[in-house]
Amino acid sequence: MSNIIYPTTNLKNTETLTIERGDGVYVYDDQGNRYLEGLAGLWCTSLGYNNRELIDAANEQMGQLSYSHMFGGKTHQVGIDLAAKVAEMVPVENAKVFFGNSGSDANDTHIKMLRYYFNAIGKPEKFKIISRDRSYHGITVASASLTGLPANHQHFDLPFDTLGILRTDAPHYYRGALPGESEADFVTRITNNLEQMILQEGPETIAAFIAEPITGASGVIVPPQGYYQRVQDILAKYDILFWADEVITGFGRTGKDFGCNTMGIDSPALMTLAKQLSSAYIPISASVVRGDIYEAMIEPSSQVGVFGHGYTYSGHPVGCAVALKTLEIYQRDNIFGKAAETGAYLQEGLSKLADHPLVGEVRGEGMIAAVEMVANKQTGEAFAGGAIGAFAQQACERHGLITRAVAGSSLALCPPLIATEQHIDEILESFGKALDDTLDHVTKQGLLTG
Ligand code: PLP
Repeated sequence: MSNIIYPTTNLKNTETLTIERGDGVYVYDDQGNRYLEGLAGLWCTSLGYNNRELIDAANEQMGQLSYSHMFGGKTHQVGIDLAAKVAEMVPVENAKVFFGNSGSDANDTHIKMLRYYFNAIGKPEKFKIISRDRSYHGITVASASLTGLPANHQHFDLPFDTLGILRTDAPHYYRGALPGESEADFVTRITNNLEQMILQEGPETIAAFIAEPITGASGVIVPPQGYYQRVQDILAKYDILFWADEVITGFGRTGKDFGCNTMGIDSPALMTLAKQLSSAYIPISASVVRGDIYEAMIEPSSQVGVFGHGYTYSGHPVGCAVALKTLEIYQRDNIFGKAAETGAYLQEGLSKLADHPLVGEVRGEGMIAAVEMVANKQTGEAFAGGAIGAFAQQACERHGLITRAVAGSSLALCPPLIATEQHIDEILESFGKALDDTLDHVTKQGLLTG
């Protein structure tokens, strides 16, 4: 056993697979077995592995300037260029960009900027943040507090009360609807709950509402029609900012350039980006804010003498160079347009699994999806714990496909955006076999209840 403390791992069951190298959409283990990376690593390797242009961009930047920081007004051209490119792409008005290293620290940065901003405009009491059940926003103390998944709170004494995190319903009709409730009634009920909570807490105390346009780690929840429209109406009514966490959904993942565009979210005030920003060749994240939020922070920073927030690696030149090249490739090669077509093919193929005796729900949009396995197809009764999800994930691996079990018994798919229809066929074939293996297993174990 090595000396590593493994992240997000059952510490009784570590070192299950050693990955040695990657090429295109495939990775290879230390035994020479090939796997199609059906989750793009952790929803991030959009351009796949061994992309020469990205490797060269990193090498060249390392040769030219391997490090320079951005404290005290220092800057470099590749950082300026990247910020300009991000600002041009995002649906945020007059966007300003703060660079970090991960989605988690980018969300922490947003929490701090929200406080800074509302203090600056004379509303210090407006600091609470509404986050949804079953959301995932990261794992640092503050971002894990935003996260709405119990496994990320238990034994860590999270969330921290002082952060003022409020929790509202997950927009998951399949799991959250009352018996006989229509989708439209579900939307009305959970958004009424949201409005009630805002009124109870006092709108003047609430800064922002954070949402992944389509969730990832919590099981790829695609909210029903009308949900985001109603949420935006409520937020506008009570002067609460929309904060889009696009760490997974940013850059072509959902069939459009951003999840906000896919889901009809107009002009969020804040946006969090990471993962596909650099196709995960190197860590870099971006906390994007609307121009007026930035403008309001200028005077107080001048009074203090400094905007007292920044990481050693904020705007790391190698990260910036790789991200800039990634965005150039996305646009030059029409990666988002092609991924939209491949994504439609993936969704269509997966929809055929809906009749499988083990499948409760198939959901997704573009190149992100999940298939939820259930103990009882008629009632939707879930399997207890996460053992069946873990079994199915391993069954996929035995058939040469890497997926990830999320939210108990859902298997997620999120292939690199460069995957072709042939790759999707391969994914569907392996996935189908793994589902059959899992059905065999649960039948022998007597775990089906219907
Ligand atoms: N936000 C979302 C929506 C995510 O999916 C993730 C990670 O999966 C994060 C934030 C945290 O990003 P990181 O793991 O880079 O800290």
